[in-house]
Amino acid sequence: MPGFELFSDLERKEVNDVLDNGVLMRYGFDGMRKGHWKAKELESELQHAFQSKHVQLVSSGTAAVSVALASAGVGAGDEVIMPTFTFVASFEAIMMLGAIPVLVDIDDTLTLDPKAVESAITPKTKAVMIVQMCGSMGNMDALKAICRSNDLIFVEDACQAIGGTYKNKPLGSIADVGCFSFDFVKTITCGEGGAVVTNNPEYYRHADHYSDHGHDHIGNDRGAETHPFLGYNFRISELNAAVGLAQVRRLPEFIAIQKKNFTIIRDELSKLSSVTFRTVPDGGEESYAFLNFFLPKLEDARQVSKAFKENGIDACFHYYDNNWHYIRKWDHLKDLKSLFPITQEVKQGLKYLETKTFEQSDQYIARNISCLIKLSWAENEVIERAKKMSEIISSTIAK
Ligand SMILES: *Cc1c(COP(=O)(O)O)cnc(C)c1O
Repeated sequence: MPGFELFSDLERKEVNDVLDNGVLMRYGFDGMRKGHWKAKELESELQHAFQSKHVQLVSSGTAAVSVALASAGVGAGDEVIMPTFTFVASFEAIMMLGAIPVLVDIDDTLTLDPKAVESAITPKTKAVMIVQMCGSMGNMDALKAICRSNDLIFVEDACQAIGGTYKNKPLGSIADVGCFSFDFVKTITCGEGGAVVTNNPEYYRHADHYSDHGHDHIGNDRGAETHPFLGYNFRISELNAAVGLAQVRRLPEFIAIQKKNFTIIRDELSKLSSVTFRTVPDGGEESYAFLNFFLPKLEDARQVSKAFKENGIDACFHYYDNNWHYIRKWDHLKDLKSLFPITQEVKQGLKYLETKTFEQSDQYIARNISCLIKLSWAENEVIERAKKMSEIISSTIAK
């Protein structure tokens, strides 16, 4: 997945444009910048890549989720339905707005189970946020229909799935508002960065202002701008945007490499009767950023994961035992370890975490192994890796 593996003169050239005029800020300084507007150019490239009317770059993927939710009007006391399997950023962004994360089970797509979403809806529910984990997606038609019939905002965190599609539409562009991350380990990197994507002109205007202190961005005199509402600073810098600009132009090349490497490993592992794969919904095409597979039992996944590490198969994760991506080990959330006081309403809203169990999610995550697909591998390396993985799985599970 990580675009940093293929850094080249293309990235260097874009960064040097910025260094040559010294304007590191994305807004203003028109006279000094010699026509270089890297953030604006990247937004326009992304509009094209995502087939979306509006793109607002921000400082990170976490910022993108916060800004997307705020732009859609999610705030204090609102409930946002999200999956048990994601990155901690999902609940961080919700809680930053004083809203309440309502975690629900995943299905064999490894993201939101539409049935679980439906049964979690209450009068306080304002939005449903799907997280397109590890390069693939959930059942978007079913989730969209649930959101429409319950008048809920549909948010799509596609931070790990850039380049994937559902019924020929880019992931991240299907819901009411989408979020991307360009942090250092994502398929396209800016170093740090993120994007909010939408076809809704009001959400876009909100995102544009909110991510820059509420500035209205009218005219070219920053001092004369007014503030229609309160905002914060979630701006991306020109240097970061310059790196992303070179990277996004290589997205089709990156996806093609991922697909090739993924397919070699998947074909090899599919010969094993102990291995099954995640379900990709009809009409879906993964970004091939990760290969996810299931083994028969929790203990199999633990043993194989350990044996992979011992035998140099790096970048494979058993999320069941990991505290970044799965509810089971999010003790800091369950124990509400906040630096500052949290409202009674949010405390009350999170009380379910003391008792609720997620057996259905456990069933999938316990048996799942997720392997990052790298861009820099040579073909013979991938073939060798696939064989070694297959041997390790066969010999470990036979024991
Ligand atoms: C990486 C990631 C984020 C957060 O992105 P940052 O740019 O690191 O803040 C959010 N959601 C998911 C699913 C991610 O993988």
